[in-house]
Amino acid sequence: MTFQDLNLNTPLYNAIEDLGFESPTPIQAEAFNVVASGKDVVGIAQTGTGKTFAYMLPILRHLKYSRQDNPRVLVLVPTRELVVQVVEEIEKMSKYINNRVLGVYGGTNINTQKQAVAQGQDIIVATPGRLYDLAVSRVLQLKSIQRLVIDEVDVMLDLGFRHQLMNIFDILPPRRQNIMFSATMTQDVDELITDFFINPTKISIAVSGTPLENIKQQRYDVPNFYTKVNLLEHLLQDKDEFSRVLIFVAYKKMADRLFDQLEELFPGDSCVIHSNKTQNYRLRSIEQFSEGEHRLLVATDVMARGLDIDDVSHVINFDTPDYPENYMHRIGRTGRAEKEGNALLFSTEKEQEARERIEALMDMKIETIDIPEDVEISTELIEEERPQIREHNNPIKRRSDEVGPAFHEKKEKNKKENLGGSYRREIAKKYKKPKTRGDKNYNRRNKKRK
Ligand code: AMP
Repeated sequence: MTFQDLNLNTPLYNAIEDLGFESPTPIQAEAFNVVASGKDVVGIAQTGTGKTFAYMLPILRHLKYSRQDNPRVLVLVPTRELVVQVVEEIEKMSKYINNRVLGVYGGTNINTQKQAVAQGQDIIVATPGRLYDLAVSRVLQLKSIQRLVIDEVDVMLDLGFRHQLMNIFDILPPRRQNIMFSATMTQDVDELITDFFINPTKISIAVSGTPLENIKQQRYDVPNFYTKVNLLEHLLQDKDEFSRVLIFVAYKKMADRLFDQLEELFPGDSCVIHSNKTQNYRLRSIEQFSEGEHRLLVATDVMARGLDIDDVSHVINFDTPDYPENYMHRIGRTGRAEKEGNALLFSTEKEQEARERIEALMDMKIETIDIPEDVEISTELIEEERPQIREHNNPIKRRSDEVGPAFHEKKEKNKKENLGGSYRREIAKKYKKPKTRGDKNYNRRNKKRK
């Protein structure tokens, strides 16, 4: 496919030619007509695939020149770096178009941004917090937004922006197009789509189910968290074989929990990255790992996305990812540059279905290895593994229509219902509702307010 095959206009076409792009990337080719159609869209694409142009080209193609001051396109991104980057990309595309683009993010003077907003804009690129502050201040009017793009949704939700997104959805016009891009599919992303998108079209460059041949894949059936830790301890004792190990877990609480265990077992040997760690901390961890200062790195799927580390001897899937694509992304971190790589998968009973989905995607079975004899099988369970206590199934609790085990009648004086003082009752009868003259607290509350 070429750019001529897309329904571009001359100004866009010329801008692309100036940039020297030869042909649309797969995600661009796939997204163009869908985004242009105005339907809700969910795109799964990683950074570097040309995703920004994928959603922005069709939007710019259909953004008519307007003198109105209120923006018509809103792009939400998780970080200020990304605000800057997206604005730059839009400006490159808009070289021959007369449109107004503004990036806003927190940590900078809001008044300068208010002035810029007040000058009138067509497209706003923003981090959620600052966007909301500007909207609440009423300087930024969102009533004309026709298209909402949320980029890197997975990172955004991982950073805890869900609540902020909800607030923004509340003040956006309900009739709008929702476009969202995410690099990884997670439970959080899935929920957001179900809750707020209307029958979205999903586009993604299919993750290849064909793993690199130079990655050796094996798996263990392990009953629970602590046995997984014991197995990990056993394996990691061989420091020559397990020389640089990337350990994946699904969520941050688990990452911290596992990191604590590893710190006890192999002090000073490991580091961790997830979204509750500061960016500096994450960068330092990655550096220490790639330079060999730390042998073990524990990471969540979302945070490990941008990792570019050579010579990873093993990828260990401490849990079995729900989405088989995540497994493909995880194991792709080893066996790079033609080198031999190793991937291990730990699965509990509950995780067997997810394991089967992975095998189905790859169309192959992963070789199973027995847990070595000297690995202790733990019976201790972590919070998430314990059976959930559901109140409605609680056999001890009575159902409301059953008669309780009362063994004597109430005494006569205790049978009376408390109707309040007699004065109250009289007044209530007279005025149909309770009324007292001097409610001290009421008066006090009102006095304070004045
Ligand atoms: P992104 O995935 O949006 O972060 O884009 C990654 C990089 O690819 C950016 O620097 C874009 O300028 C560049 N790019 C986007 N589309 C194309 C294309 N069709 N051909 C070549 N480079 C592209």
